[in-house]
Amino acid sequence: MQLDELITAELKRLGDANSLKYETSLQSAQGGIVKVNGKEAVMLASNNYLGMSNHPAVIKAAINGIKKFGYGLASVRFLTGTQTIHIELERKISKFLKSEDTILFSSSFAANIAFFQALANEKLGYENYKDVIYSDQLNHASIIDGQRLCRPETADRKIYMHGDLADLERLLLEDKDKNYRLRLIATDGVFSMEGDMAPLQKIFELAKKYGALIFIDDAHGIGVCGKSGRGTAENFGLLGEIDFTVGTLGKAIGGAAGGFISGSRNFIEYMRQKGRPYIFSNSLPPAVVCGSIAAFDLLIKDKSIIKRLHDNTDYFRKEIKRLGFDIIGGTHPIVPIMLGEASAAQEMSNKLLKEGVYIKGLWFPVVPKGKARLRAQISASLKKKDIDRALEAFEKVGRKMKIISDK
Ligand SMILES: *Cc1c(COP(=O)(O)O)cnc(C)c1O
Repeated sequence: MQLDELITAELKRLGDANSLKYETSLQSAQGGIVKVNGKEAVMLASNNYLGMSNHPAVIKAAINGIKKFGYGLASVRFLTGTQTIHIELERKISKFLKSEDTILFSSSFAANIAFFQALANEKLGYENYKDVIYSDQLNHASIIDGQRLCRPETADRKIYMHGDLADLERLLLEDKDKNYRLRLIATDGVFSMEGDMAPLQKIFELAKKYGALIFIDDAHGIGVCGKSGRGTAENFGLLGEIDFTVGTLGKAIGGAAGGFISGSRNFIEYMRQKGRPYIFSNSLPPAVVCGSIAAFDLLIKDKSIIKRLHDNTDYFRKEIKRLGFDIIGGTHPIVPIMLGEASAAQEMSNKLLKEGVYIKGLWFPVVPKGKARLRAQISASLKKKDIDRALEAFEKVGRKMKIISDK
């Protein structure tokens, strides 16, 4: 068969299954209000939780970064790709997360690839060894792909049911007397489909009990969860207690690009020596590094930003429920609005866009059959009147579609 036939068939299959992804171009910067199809829309679908992707202080820092440090490095870190600003950003993140050290990557996808590749595939003096990784069923694709780089001869991978501590403990108990070199529990901090947090306190207790290390990918947590936005660990009173924390600079913190791992000084030094996406891929450009530094500074200095995110989230959650919509409870700015059938989610997101609200639907196979939803993501960049405008559109479209009843 010819390549073209093969891929055409697959694209048709995706189309028939309603799972083709399509892109809608924004005609403006990312923000609380964006321009789409020539019209303004309230943005409820971005990871721009703190509204920093178009914040004047972040933009200014990025421009100054380019002026002083240039456009790019044309090098990896250990050759000629390290500038003082890279070290400054790494230190800032370490301090923010109360960890000893931090290593930057071009994305958190790359960070996750590096982490698992560098950890479970190295002998480190052992002739015969095996590590074991316990991984939440709903972990992000990049954690799954990172684990795929662990060879089956050197690492067992075990999946526990999503957030299910009994299932995790069952696996840990099963392996208690086995001769594993390292035991590692890997979880997202916040799961992006439901907006729920990993039960970190209990995971921490289990890790202590069974001698396991904890790896948390807090891409949707840092800048969002906890009183000061230090993430899922802060939320559970465990800041500085988690062995390895991955974060992104592509969501709340500026939203451009980049990722990092924070951990012990020793471990981060080890990653600089062994992490292949770090060693063999370009270092972050100065505009992004300086923008990210400014984003952390803003978050630390201007407490009103994180407060606004939390207040906006509470307000939206309360009001959308009051209108009669069925949402998944919680406190995260990811607010899933449950609609059931895929067709309802598709129709509603299209109608909402016409009413000036940009929101994305999720349906099978991304979420289970019959659990199609719209996923709202609240941001500090939204003004109360923007949220009210979105709520009005929800009410109008929801009534028309008979998802909520007329009062
Ligand atoms: C978004 C996300 C990533 C990818 O982040 P990038 O920095 O864009 O590569 C990784 N892990 C989780 C849990 C995410 O939500």
